Amino acid sequence: MKNEIPGEASAQSDQASLVFVGVGDATDPQHPNTSLWLDGAHSLLLDCGYSVPQAFWQHCTDPNRLDGIWLSHGHADHCFGLPGLLLWMRTSGRTKPLHVLSAGDVQPHLKQVLELGYPGSFAPEKCFELIWQAGPRQLHTWQLSHAQTSHSVSNHAVRIDTPSWSVAYSGDGGMTAESRALFSGVSVLVHECHDSQRRGMGHTTIGDLTQLARGQPETRVFGIHHRRDERHQMERELRADGLVHPSRPGLHLTLPLPSD
Ligand SMILES: [Zn+2]
Repeated sequence: MKNEIPGEASAQSDQASLVFVGVGDATDPQHPNTSLWLDGAHSLLLDCGYSVPQAFWQHCTDPNRLDGIWLSHGHADHCFGLPGLLLWMRTSGRTKPLHVLSAGDVQPHLKQVLELGYPGSFAPEKCFELIWQAGPRQLHTWQLSHAQTSHSVSNHAVRIDTPSWSVAYSGDGGMTAESRALFSGVSVLVHECHDSQRRGMGHTTIGDLTQLARGQPETRVFGIHHRRDERHQMERELRADGLVHPSRPGLHLTLPLPSD
């Protein structure tokens, strides 16, 4: 099932779908790592952890489909799926270049992940072209912007804007003034809410996200990347809050499942 992002009737080419490939954190026993597939005029995967390639192949079997992959940060549940996904593309005959997008200083780490995974396999003479972009401002006609969050390593949230819609994705981390500014007025926000209670500054709580959703009624908010045993507690809190109902799409704040 795909969640259609509302676009204006006059801008058919701007329509896109957003698939939750995975919604889990690093140790979720049930759900694949958090990853989103934004597919429209262009096609972009947001994060690619170790359990993402298999989950992605359940939705997409075309090795040429993705134009780019955005990696929010260097943690394994967000980028250790890269070697497998790129190997699949290569061995399935991909020809077109792939944009590997990130912000901050994560790029050398990503190159190391690829080399450790399959040494030499992504060298230019063997592989389709990899276009490495740090701090990209666009992917073809989509405008990109990013902002640092508060995580244990450098993590950047990203926002994609078209004339008809906008989508933002947090990656990991607590909100910062910079990330709140990035999310302002966005049509769809997918944000981690790892914890039901505050345990430090490295993650966002369901309370933080509810507060943001209340202050930004124009934004459809999705909460993902929950601590493995806290999803049910979060759902109870959301019901008690009255603002939201996790199983009723269209309301303000939703906790999606993989494949939604
Ligand atoms: Zn992380």
